Amino acid sequence: MSLEFIPNRVFYEPGVLDYPLGKTLVQRFQNMGISMSPTTSHNRITGIPGDSAAAAYREAKRALVIGVRRSKTFQSCKPSAHYQLPLVTSCPGMCEYCYLATTLGKKPYVRVYVNLEEILGIASNLIQERLPEITQFEGAATSDPIPVERYTGALKKTIEFFGREQNGRFRFVTKYTDVESLLEARHEGHTRFRFSLNCAEVVQKYEHGTPSPEERIIASGKVLNAEYPLGFIIAPIFRFPGWQEAYRRLLERSADEVVKRAPLGWSSEQLSLEFISHRFTAKAKANILEVFPNSTLPMEEEERKFKYGQFGYGKYVYQPEEIKEMKEFFQEQAKGYFPLAQVEYFI
Ligand code: SF4
Repeated sequence: MSLEFIPNRVFYEPGVLDYPLGKTLVQRFQNMGISMSPTTSHNRITGIPGDSAAAAYREAKRALVIGVRRSKTFQSCKPSAHYQLPLVTSCPGMCEYCYLATTLGKKPYVRVYVNLEEILGIASNLIQERLPEITQFEGAATSDPIPVERYTGALKKTIEFFGREQNGRFRFVTKYTDVESLLEARHEGHTRFRFSLNCAEVVQKYEHGTPSPEERIIASGKVLNAEYPLGFIIAPIFRFPGWQEAYRRLLERSADEVVKRAPLGWSSEQLSLEFISHRFTAKAKANILEVFPNSTLPMEEEERKFKYGQFGYGKYVYQPEEIKEMKEFFQEQAKGYFPLAQVEYFI
């Protein structure tokens, strides 16, 4: 199955035609013969078919909305960055545990914004406000930005914007591997390119419509070779029979590729690692089961520990002794395979 994102239907705000990118996109999708409908707002889309929640979700994931982002501010993005940088909303992938499921709810359609210059202008003002400090922006807080990059080129422009910014830094994370157009970008080491990885057992079961871990690892090698600061996020980490060996193999293979593709003089201290154990909220569980009624995701409340989260709602995490074991395991693996890497956190 090709993972190239080709929308089934496109919606656009008429205002996008005032922007060169908006005109180009509308023209391009018209030429592709895709059904096009104007919409008054990129936040309220009607006309996506589906007679069940699962069918509506699948259709929405193949719908693209082209809009103008009107808000003049960015949301904060603690603790990983100072601000979110909203280039895209949602993603055509269908990971059962997608971290956006709770926030996007019934609106999982993919949205792109054509007023990139204005969006980057806001970033520029926010950088100015915090001088002489460095300001960090996260480009994947509301999306995986890679699948639509072939249409918008927005990520490349953003990377180059940060390449020119002495006091701004950019980071994003992806599961996708269509990275060729970004390898030539003048990033100046100001963008951290992170890949979300999981072992093949988990990806096959739960990360529908995304590239395999092997493909992601190969893409990470290309990115490293293009001298981007690189990061891996291993998430969500599950316990299942053989989990240690499965994750060990994943780290071993990643380390192989890194060694093979690292530019001259590179050391693993330039690599960041993040580890996130699986957790779920009651709301996420209900959403997941609506959209994936046959999901085999392990979400038995009685097997987990209930923990109050930072945003006021509780989540079900692994038991403390299980987390301790996982944390020790990953710390040891990280030390073995990437001796100097920065382990940002294990949660
Ligand atoms: S790739 Fe990321 S953003 Fe897309 S569905 Fe999967 S978890 Fe969500």
